[in-house]
Amino acid sequence: MNEQYYLPLAYLNAWEYCPRRFFLEYELGENADNEHIIMGRHLHRHVDDEGKNVEGDKVVYRHQWVWCDRLLVNGIIDAVEENDHQLVPVEFKKGRMANHKSDHFQLCGAALCLEERTGTNIPYGEIFYYANRRRERVEFTSALRQATEQAILAARSAIGGKMPPPIDHPQKCRDCSLQKICLPKEIKKLRLEV
Ligand code: SF4
Repeated sequence: MNEQYYLPLAYLNAWEYCPRRFFLEYELGENADNEHIIMGRHLHRHVDDEGKNVEGDKVVYRHQWVWCDRLLVNGIIDAVEENDHQLVPVEFKKGRMANHKSDHFQLCGAALCLEERTGTNIPYGEIFYYANRRRERVEFTSALRQATEQAILAARSAIGGKMPPPIDHPQKCRDCSLQKICLPKEIKKLRLEV
């Protein structure tokens, strides 16, 4: 792999969700819509244009492109809020709070990029979940930072390797748009019969 290739943050989310999903998307270029993807795209339309607006003491920068030369990752943050010189990265997600911790890794990866770009410390970020209309505050603890950096390294080193087996997580598989391509139940059945 070209070491200078930057891993997109969205793939970091895919990696944490399921390494097989990461492989299907990243290595094989597979892509599929399901109701979750279509709804997410629809709800996301308000933050898909780059821009800036002022809300009281807060300035909101939408759709910000960031990267980290140290970790070789890049991507777009849905919004960065600035209040009293404190930057807060914000992601907008279709699902419910705490459904998938992979969102935390994506947000933390975005914060690491933003810290490198601005030279400031970013102690926390927020994820807005449309399904229950709640904002979850995610503290960028040293444990989360370390786990995020390890996930970036693991995802990058998995590139060019073998396709991972399906994960044992029926709820994730049920929500996964690649289920009909991945065929997790069929693969598991075949593996048991071999
Ligand atoms: S269907 Fe399940 S095993 Fe297959 S890619 Fe999706 S989450 Fe992973």
